[in-house]
Amino acid sequence: MNNTTMQNRVPDMFGSMVFNDHVMKERLPKETYKALQRTIAEGRKLDPTVANVVANAMKDWATEKGATHFTHWFQPMTGITAEKHDSFISPVEGGHIIMEFSGKELVKGEPDASSFPNGGLRSTFEARGYTAWDPSSYAFIKDQTLCIPTVFYSYGGEALDKKTPLLRSLEAINKQGLRILRLFGHNDVKRLKVTVGPEQEYFLISRKKYYQRQDLVICGRTLFGARPPKGQEMEDHYFGTIKPRVAEFMADLDEELWKLGILAKTEHNEAAPAQHELAPIFTEANIAVDHNQLTMEIMKKVARRHDLACLLHEKPFDGVNGSGKHNNWSLSTDTGINLLEPGDSPRENAQFLLFLVAVIKAVDEYQDLLRVSIASANNDHRLGGNEAPPAIVSMFLGDELTQILDTIENDSDYEQQDRQELKVGVHILPRFARDTTDRNRTSPFAFTGNKFEFRMPGSGSSVSSPNVILNTIVAEALSQFADELENEADFESALHDLIKRTIRDHKRIIFNGNNYSKEWVEEAARRGLGNCETTVDALASYLDEKNVQLFTKHKIYTAAELRSRFDIQLESYCKTLNMEALTMIDMAYKEIFPAVSKYVDFLCETVVHKKQAGLIDVKTNEEILAQQLSKLSAQGFDKLRHLEDVRSRAFTIEDIHEKAMYYKDAVLPAMEALRTDADQMERLTAESYWPYPTYSKLLFYV
Ligand code: ADP
Ligand code: MG
Repeated sequence: MNNTTMQNRVPDMFGSMVFNDHVMKERLPKETYKALQRTIAEGRKLDPTVANVVANAMKDWATEKGATHFTHWFQPMTGITAEKHDSFISPVEGGHIIMEFSGKELVKGEPDASSFPNGGLRSTFEARGYTAWDPSSYAFIKDQTLCIPTVFYSYGGEALDKKTPLLRSLEAINKQGLRILRLFGHNDVKRLKVTVGPEQEYFLISRKKYYQRQDLVICGRTLFGARPPKGQEMEDHYFGTIKPRVAEFMADLDEELWKLGILAKTEHNEAAPAQHELAPIFTEANIAVDHNQLTMEIMKKVARRHDLACLLHEKPFDGVNGSGKHNNWSLSTDTGINLLEPGDSPRENAQFLLFLVAVIKAVDEYQDLLRVSIASANNDHRLGGNEAPPAIVSMFLGDELTQILDTIENDSDYEQQDRQELKVGVHILPRFARDTTDRNRTSPFAFTGNKFEFRMPGSGSSVSSPNVILNTIVAEALSQFADELENEADFESALHDLIKRTIRDHKRIIFNGNNYSKEWVEEAARRGLGNCETTVDALASYLDEKNVQLFTKHKIYTAAELRSRFDIQLESYCKTLNMEALTMIDMAYKEIFPAVSKYVDFLCETVVHKKQAGLIDVKTNEEILAQQLSKLSAQGFDKLRHLEDVRSRAFTIEDIHEKAMYYKDAVLPAMEALRTDADQMERLTAESYWPYPTYSKLLFYV
């Protein structure tokens, strides 16, 4: 295809499978379009007659594009998306059918709530749950199915999904942010928008080899595997030339994503062998979260087409980097101002500083919740290794900005006459060049010029939770600021004092140094910052009084919803570890030990044959190897028995938190012990006898 064709083809393709604003304008009667827009803007219930017209237009559009089914697409607490397909067919007289889709079907669905994680909010005997259309996210076509983005909630109205709290948190930050913007005289701003750009890391490996490893297929990560002779120490993969096969995958993926209106922008190789990244152009938080869920799903699907397997697990391989999902987050107005970008006038700068210190205060006061928001059994393997931020939450601001905050805190550098005018931001703040603010790659939460980059989220999880927390904690800081400033006669002075005080009270969270260093761990402890290395430890603070108050105040979660989420996260932790332990046990009995026995047998036969042939009388290498392997295998077998024993005892523990602790403290170490011996045996066994592909084959033979 020549360039000019491509120039038309990509824009034509972009969003072609989305029932977006453009399509709505074209296909809906003017009145209906307006009514729908009003509903979206005001978040109100949709009038049933309007819903019918919209549904019909959607169905016509979708069937023209080849769709035969529709589904309510939702995001239950499993972390992935759910859909139940219904066809459009409806019988009419004479054994015929017509294609039909009603407003009622568009607006509401009724999946079984008890079959999804609900943390005790639904029991099977009252299983009813509902899905309801979220018109702020466009419908789209995937697999010949019209997908309607929906929220998912129980009969009693409790949220059972990851979208509802996100929408609620967006409302909260909008409300509080507008209060602040009014104080700065922005009466034209109608809405505060949260923008998010999640950078997605992933691995691509040969599909054939993937199927040869039960651990990858079942658990998404290798539970066994000796280190290959080469890892990522040569630093030759990051931004390296993309292999043709991978390049074809990326091109195909881009097209699939573009059709769905997903702004896939940057594709490159990452640090580990076989690791890559996709970064989209940022968009509004709700859409960004939906799009990231779709991106993950489509990555897997496209990989399959190219005989590849896409691994989204946070730590598929030991010894090389795991995968994260940098969550770029910022605030802007519907009038197009980025609130985290310093402006050109003192007043704009004062406003920037106020939003900045709101984030600083929020992150400091709710470090624990940010840690919880990205906690999972999988992410535990990644955080704190020398590849990802430690489990300590801190913020990087860069030297320039930190210095400015110091100056404000100490009132140094302020000329007397300046102080009488607008005190904060008397100096025009410099625009922060990206290269001065983006240098520190080790920080979990870095200011990068006009946004924050939260680097702790794991590659496989939805970015809903981290954004729910960010929005909520910043909303809380803004609400406290607004409470304080709204009734002040002398706004400028009060503002100055508030900013100064906030810096003084929360500067301990700012750290511009190397987050991977041992010294930082010690320093952070001195500063009193949290350091929860595991999910189980992190979750302990989830239900603290201050957190329950925060969530209920801003109507993000009710106390019952919060409790259910706590339970779901712990249950999921236990289930993950249980599944991993069982997979290891299975692989050990059925694959590893039989392979070693067979190889030892071969070695012994060789020894016998050599002796019979009178070839040698000293100890043969086969003898030495057979001996070593026999010893290892006896030792490993004990570890296997121990793991079995330890795992089965987990079921005697009732309390979910206690049970999770047990998995962490007893089951996980037993798994690691078994792996050590198995990997040792792998090193000594001929590859032709080894039952699954080695790390070398997985990582370098793509
Ligand atoms: P990196 O060096 O981290 O790879 P990039 O500039 O390539 O940085 O972009 C990181 C991500 O940040 C992209 O997905 C981009 O769209 C996103 N981003 C840029 N500006 C904003 C913003 N205002 N709000 C949210 N995300 C943003
Ligand atoms: Mg980044």
